[in-house]
Amino acid sequence: MIDHRRLGRELDLFVSDPLAGAGLPIWLPAGAAARHAVEEYVRDLERRAGYQHVYSPPLGKRELFALSGHLGYFADDMFPPLRLSADDEFVLRPALCPHHALVYRARGRSYRELPLRIAELGGMYRAERSGVLGGLSRVRAISLNDAHNFCALDQVGEEVREILRLIREAHAALGVRPAGFRLSLRGPGEKYVGDDAQWARAEDLLRAALDGVDFTEAPGEAAFYGPKIDIQIVDAAGRESTLSTVQLDFDKPERFDLSYTDASGARRRPVMVHRSLVGSMERLFAYLIEVHQGAFPPWYAPVQLVLLPVDAGQAGAAAELARRAVAVGLRAEVDAGGSLGARIRDAAQRRVPYVGVVGAREAADGSVSLRLRDGRGLDPMPVADALGLVGAVVAARSSDLLPAAA
Ligand SMILES: [Zn+2]
Repeated sequence: MIDHRRLGRELDLFVSDPLAGAGLPIWLPAGAAARHAVEEYVRDLERRAGYQHVYSPPLGKRELFALSGHLGYFADDMFPPLRLSADDEFVLRPALCPHHALVYRARGRSYRELPLRIAELGGMYRAERSGVLGGLSRVRAISLNDAHNFCALDQVGEEVREILRLIREAHAALGVRPAGFRLSLRGPGEKYVGDDAQWARAEDLLRAALDGVDFTEAPGEAAFYGPKIDIQIVDAAGRESTLSTVQLDFDKPERFDLSYTDASGARRRPVMVHRSLVGSMERLFAYLIEVHQGAFPPWYAPVQLVLLPVDAGQAGAAAELARRAVAVGLRAEVDAGGSLGARIRDAAQRRVPYVGVVGAREAADGSVSLRLRDGRGLDPMPVADALGLVGAVVAARSSDLLPAAA
């Protein structure tokens, strides 16, 4: 079984140190480089789709989470409040929605601004029991790809369909293969806010957006404030979890008294759509490490190109090639120590997609011999062509190691 914890250690992606605490992994440089590439991609995808990004703090006053309903309905999953004085308590947030509701109401809103899409890759915290924690898949400090889309009721259907389209696009680029779509509904019990009519209307809207999509229904898996579409993944151990999600919420706009002015000047209540395209960075990478067995598509490989001088005489040429690669935006490095065979094996073990061998002939005529991660070797080519080849694959966010034939 390919376990992301073992690969994470072998590939130096992250470390879990008991001194830091269970469920609080630390991303090492290689893991951080891969995550950074994914974060940049997601932010760009969202920006092109009309999202506006914000920053908000990972903790806030107790009253904020009392107003949002989290303290009433979600306290079991939260860390206890931090008390500075009797009337000054702070909460490590379990979700970003309360802060984004404050972004919405930072000023008056007009119907012309809707849908207003507020996005953030932000920190949040869950007081998971230590027994369920492991690697990146269940953590206590979560970095969520999150957004809240505030829209008029008649915009909800189109907005949800567009979110599902973005989710599919992001999954294709990352190599995520969803196990299925799930419509998560209210179950029995008191842990849900809102009235029956709100729940029924939200459910109808989500069903309509799922028209033509195969999905299962899961009573009892809704958020406390509304039903949701969950896109499920399965890990190497066969455990299913939710990666991407779209949730409808009529409750928080009430609680935060959110409104906009419609075309006739009347005050109206927006609907809040909570959505995550790729889930938390932690759960996403736990999955990606396993599904790719550490061999990420070149665009988010921690190191994309390793340059190997055959002997000391080519050290300068290899270093110059690495500088040029870094200058055009690639993640490249030189490995000069040990036998050539050992260095090639080491690059393969690290799942580096491209190895550039620089021998005496290549150094003399400004060329490089590329070896691909899958074992294929290419004839020596001019350095500019090699950088162009790697750059084209990276820019296309392709999973193939060679550019599509022209
Ligand atoms: Zn939310």
